[in-house]
Amino acid sequence: MISVSKLPQTGTTIFTVMSALANEVNAINLSQGFPDYECPAELIDLVTAAMKNGYNQYAPMAGLPALRERIAAKTEKLHGAVYNPDTEITITAGGTQAIFTAICATIHPNDEVIVFEPAYDAYAPAIKLMGGTVKSLALEPPDYRIPWEMVKRLISSRTRMIILNSPHNPTGTILRKDDIDQLSIIVKNRDILILSDEVYEHLIYDGEVHESMARYPELQQRSFIVASFGKLFHSTGWKLGYCLAPAALMQEFRKIHQFLVFSVNTPMQVAIAEYLKNEETYLSLSSFFQQKRDTFRQGLAQTRFELLPCSGSYFQSVWYNNISDEKDTDFSIRLTRDFGVATIPVSAFYSKAIDYHVIRFCFAKKQETLDMAVEKLLAL
Ligand code: GLN
Repeated sequence: MISVSKLPQTGTTIFTVMSALANEVNAINLSQGFPDYECPAELIDLVTAAMKNGYNQYAPMAGLPALRERIAAKTEKLHGAVYNPDTEITITAGGTQAIFTAICATIHPNDEVIVFEPAYDAYAPAIKLMGGTVKSLALEPPDYRIPWEMVKRLISSRTRMIILNSPHNPTGTILRKDDIDQLSIIVKNRDILILSDEVYEHLIYDGEVHESMARYPELQQRSFIVASFGKLFHSTGWKLGYCLAPAALMQEFRKIHQFLVFSVNTPMQVAIAEYLKNEETYLSLSSFFQQKRDTFRQGLAQTRFELLPCSGSYFQSVWYNNISDEKDTDFSIRLTRDFGVATIPVSAFYSKAIDYHVIRFCFAKKQETLDMAVEKLLAL
C-alpha cells in the first residue's frame, strides 16, 4: 500500500472527467481538446508505408535525424533561429512528455517556478514532483493579460523558471511584442529559464504573429520550446511532439528523456518527416481553424453566453453570467447532462479553483458538430 502520496491534492484530469461524462450521457463533446474529424489520409498512407517498409524498430534516442532536420529548417525559416538537429532538437511523446522532461531536468528542490493561471494542468504536478514550488499568478477575464509589474515582484533568488503558453489554453490569448519586451527586461542578467509551451503555434488568427521564444536570441538561449504534431496534423492520439533548446539545456533534457521513454515511435516519425516537406500542411492551419472559430462565434453570439476574445488555439471561452450563478463545475455538468453539450469549467485551470463563471469550448470539430452544439445551446 502507498502510505504517502507524492501528489495528495491531484485527482483525475478534468479532460478525462468531462469526456467520460460526455460519453456516458451521449453529449456533444466540446470539452477535451481534440478534433472529431480524420487526420489527413496522405499522412496515414505515409505511416502505413513506413511500417511496411520495415521502420518498426527503435528510433535513435533523440529522434529520427530526417525529422529533426526538417524541424530545424522549419524553425529557421519561420523564426530565424538556428537549432542544431544533432544537439538541440529532441522528438518526444507529445508536448506533455517534453514539458515533464524539461521540468524534471532542471527543477531542484525549493526552486521556484512562475506559472500563469489559468494554466494547462500538466505543469504544476511536474514541478511539485521535483520538489519545486509553484508561484502562481492568476490572470483575469476578459483579457487575461500578464501583469508584468506583479511578475517582477514574484521574482526571488530562487526563481528558476517561468512557464509561458502562447497561443494559450484555455483562454485563446496570445503573447504580443510588448509582453516579450517586458519578459526580456525581467529575465535579463538573471539565471531564469523559460519553458515555452507553443503547441498551438500555428493556430493563430486575424493575421497575428506567433511570438515564439525562438525569435528573440536573449530569450531563445534560456528556453525550452515545446511543440506537438498532434495539434498540427489533427492527430492528438499519435502523441508525437518535440522540444527545442540550446545544446547545454538539451543535454540535460536528454539525460531524462533517455530513461523516461528512450525514443518515440519510429514509423510516425518517418511519415511526419516526409509530410513536413510541404509547408502548406501547417501554414494552412490558421485559416482552417479561423473559419471554425468564426462560424462557432457567430453561432454562440445568438445564445445568452458572452463571448471572450480568442486570438489562437482550439478554444473559445464564454461567460455564462446571463444564464446562471451556479459554480462553473456544476454548470458544466448540468450543461452536459441536461443540454447535451460538454465543456470545461475554467476554474479547473486555477490552483485555487477561482471561478469567474467562464467555460471553455473546443471548436476543433466538424462544422455539423459545432452547428448541432449551437442548436442545443440556444435552448438555454
Ligand atoms: N490539451 C487538451 C485540452 O486542453 C487535452 C489533453 C488531455 O486530455 N490531457 O483539452
